Amino acid sequence: MVLTLPVDHQDTDESDPIQIFYATETGTSQDIAFSVYRHLRLHHLPSVTPLSFSEFDPVSLPLLSGPVLFIVSTTGNGEPTRDIRSLWSMLMRKDLPEDVLDEVRFSVFGLGDSGYERFNWAGKILRRRLLALGAEELIRDKEWWGDERSSGGRILTPEFYPSSLPPDPLPPTHLFPPTMRASLGPLSDLSSRTQSIDLSNDWPGRDAYGQTNLPDDGEGWMPGKLVRFDRMTDEDWPQDVRQVEIDTEPGLIYSPGSIVQLVPSNPPSSVDRFLALQPHLPSPSTLLTYQAEPTPNSGSADLQSVNSPSSHLKDLTFTLYALLRDHLDLTAVPRRSFFLWLRLFATDPREVERLDEFLDVNEGGDDIYDYSTKPRRMLLEVLSDFKGIKIPLDYLPEVLGRIRRREFSIAGSSTTHPGKIQLCIAMVNYKTSLKVPRAGLLTSWLRSLPLGSSCPIRVVSGTMTVPQNPKVPIILVGPGTGVAPLRAFLEHRLLEKAYDNTLYFGCRSLSKDYLYESDWMRMEKAGGLRLRVAASRDQEDKIYVQHLIKQDAHILYTKLTEENAHVYISGSSNAMPRAVRAALLFCLMEIGKMTEDEGKRYMEQMEEEGRLCEECWS
Ligand SMILES: Cc1cc2nc3c(=O)[nH]c(=O)nc-3n(C[C@H](O)[C@H](O)[C@H](O)COP(=O)(O)OP(=O)(O)OC[C@H]3O[C@@H](n4cnc5c(N)ncnc54)[C@H](O)[C@@H]3O)c2cc1C
Repeated sequence: MVLTLPVDHQDTDESDPIQIFYATETGTSQDIAFSVYRHLRLHHLPSVTPLSFSEFDPVSLPLLSGPVLFIVSTTGNGEPTRDIRSLWSMLMRKDLPEDVLDEVRFSVFGLGDSGYERFNWAGKILRRRLLALGAEELIRDKEWWGDERSSGGRILTPEFYPSSLPPDPLPPTHLFPPTMRASLGPLSDLSSRTQSIDLSNDWPGRDAYGQTNLPDDGEGWMPGKLVRFDRMTDEDWPQDVRQVEIDTEPGLIYSPGSIVQLVPSNPPSSVDRFLALQPHLPSPSTLLTYQAEPTPNSGSADLQSVNSPSSHLKDLTFTLYALLRDHLDLTAVPRRSFFLWLRLFATDPREVERLDEFLDVNEGGDDIYDYSTKPRRMLLEVLSDFKGIKIPLDYLPEVLGRIRRREFSIAGSSTTHPGKIQLCIAMVNYKTSLKVPRAGLLTSWLRSLPLGSSCPIRVVSGTMTVPQNPKVPIILVGPGTGVAPLRAFLEHRLLEKAYDNTLYFGCRSLSKDYLYESDWMRMEKAGGLRLRVAASRDQEDKIYVQHLIKQDAHILYTKLTEENAHVYISGSSNAMPRAVRAALLFCLMEIGKMTEDEGKRYMEQMEEEGRLCEECWS
């Protein structure tokens, strides 16, 4: 689909730059935000570099003066993404005056998956709430809900209403100056901190963090040390799941359902390959410092670079090698904006032609999807196919972007495991149509760490919280590694002497991938767990957790409707969460004789009351 940019340039003047905020889980909204921003700049419209909601202080929302475009993804069954949650909590407060946002002029563009009932829910709720608080929608009677499922929905390019286009746009291949410039050698007049020069072939890097040994983005990282990396699945089983333990600050307290973020480094082989493909770059041992570059549209160098996705690199000094190993993403599956960058630097006519085909809006994005998204072709592999393209040093942070942090549910209670973080991590290895098998960056990096290595962590809250009242029954559904946060719930509940706990665990075979078996046995023996295990491949007919839920319809109906039970669903966001919800609906209809509508309404009410929660990932 084509995004018609919902901001009419007549609504703006030179002093009113258009601001773009994005909420993203996988990077799609960010990609769109940057292409909209570029489009605005090509049309000479004043705008500010798109900002993630995670970097936005919600209390400043009423003060935004120019037109604001919110690009908002919905995850799971209608959940807002994690980065927008502090704005969410602020906006949902009941004590806000009805006119608190009457200075704000906005449009919301949502992105979602029409396979879910609550398609684009986060965007729709945001729009409704902004209107209720007095904000003015810039173009009314029109909704912008993108669908990731439709083939055209993979590409979202901005198209202005012809009547509102300012005249004489710059050509589509115009190259704007970089947001930062690299100075070679440390700058004595900056308070820069030189990171240690490490040219060894070691993986991890991360010792490059110098004195603090922590990522230097001011986002609350804590020291961690990897102390355990034990295989949990049978040695001859293809799926490799690990029990990971990280020692951290002794007093750290986290609630059940919390998430830990980890950030990997690139392997030396990837750095070497990148350097071989980009021979124009200086020697890997060269010291670099990136500094903000003022641009005409942002006015201020600081504002521009603070908003840039690579702003965490500003004023730090490191070697080119450390920059590529520890900061910039060499292995992501590139999105449309990366191909646009390549087009801006392409000079070889055959490469130009191929990139123009990729970027052709009329093709609906299918070429990029078939070439890189579907087979999960990495950025480095794309660069190998476009050998003529040389990315200038100044642009490296913008073009490559930052290594994405990965999230994992904490698999234990901080009271049971003081000073430790326990995780249950599936190693990411799979095949696609490409010859070389795919491997996850973080899980490969973890595997490469000797025990005792530094492994910085950041703890954030998750979407699921345990009920305060220990008398309330809980029903936990977690196949595979989805059981990780549920183990934390159970450990916490047993400490609280809350014994009405039911766990539906799913695996393929009891003898191969039955995770935490001894823990469940112990909890069952202590009278604190009713355990139901679906081992899908241990018999001819596959049995999954949803089948066991249906078998238990009587018990579950009573717990849901008479005992106010809370339900938690966790794990892979493929077909599982929907199948589990359908099984719960079955219980309500079969035993409670509810109609389908009544059952769905009952479940919606459970969600509103926080009694039906999901933490699922792709
Ligand atoms: C809130 C939250 C909690 C999580 N908790 C856990 C947890 O407790 N345990 C756990 O193991 N994981 C968990 N995950 C998932 C985990 O964060 C990802 O698997 C992570 O990306 C792995 O990092 P990686 O760098 O090794 O893989 P990446 O390099 O990030 O690659 C992972 C990506 O590869 C793709 N992929 C993986 N397998 C296939 C396949 N067969 N075919 C095609 N594409 C594929 C998917 O797009 C996937 O997102 C959680 C995720 C979230 C958001």
